[in-house]
Amino acid sequence: MPRSPRNHRWTLRGAALGAAGLIGAVPRQGGAPKGGDGDGGERIAPRAALRLLREGNRRAVGGGARGAGRAGRVGAARVGRPLATVLACVDCRVPPEELFALGPGALLVIRTAAHTLDAMVEGSVEYGPVELEVPLVVVLGHSGCETVAAAVRARTEGARPPAHLAVASARLAQACREGARRPGDAVENTVRAQTDRVVARLRDDPVLLPLLRRGALEVVGAHHRAETGEVEFLSDLPERSAPTPAAGPGRP
Ligand SMILES: [Zn+2]
Repeated sequence: MPRSPRNHRWTLRGAALGAAGLIGAVPRQGGAPKGGDGDGGERIAPRAALRLLREGNRRAVGGGARGAGRAGRVGAARVGRPLATVLACVDCRVPPEELFALGPGALLVIRTAAHTLDAMVEGSVEYGPVELEVPLVVVLGHSGCETVAAAVRARTEGARPPAHLAVASARLAQACREGARRPGDAVENTVRAQTDRVVARLRDDPVLLPLLRRGALEVVGAHHRAETGEVEFLSDLPERSAPTPAAGPGRP
């Protein structure tokens, strides 16, 4: 069945949103800024948001292992609305705000094992761009991912993944196959393959697609190297005239 807003389950209301931890992290600024500039927030283009994240990570890396001091951080009070939504892994040891030297309120952060998607998570990603005009979604993988390592062991050694990682491991099956075809470390390659798959899926999200097509939103993949603290952005922003990547089978 083709994906459309009609058959795409909107799961981000009421208690579900609270359960995702978003309500407390997002300054609502008197309501959803649906198209006006009168909400106190400054409109930020996707490329400008990406530049701020790159600059923030450079400050974080240059400022020591735990990032820049609080005085050098950009928070909601300065940018007026969140710069980006970050979908990251639960076992990434450094909070995304630290990675990008950003203060509270500058990011909407959603974390799942190996940044896997389901309907709830995908709806949570949609929330920022749709309700708060967040201009950028970053899918953030990381080195040494324990969830991905368990999935790779399950595939290569037949080891049963721990119960709490069983669902995530099943969702990583295709990324494991793609990672195994790439030269180098299987876990690292699978993390990157998973990031690529999630990015492709979100670029095809029927709720996000209108924003993507008019240039109000971009979705990019990134990779955090735990050894250095650096965040590598895996691709530049796509040309919107290019065809939208086809979605893979099921949610990655
Ligand atoms: Zn991880």
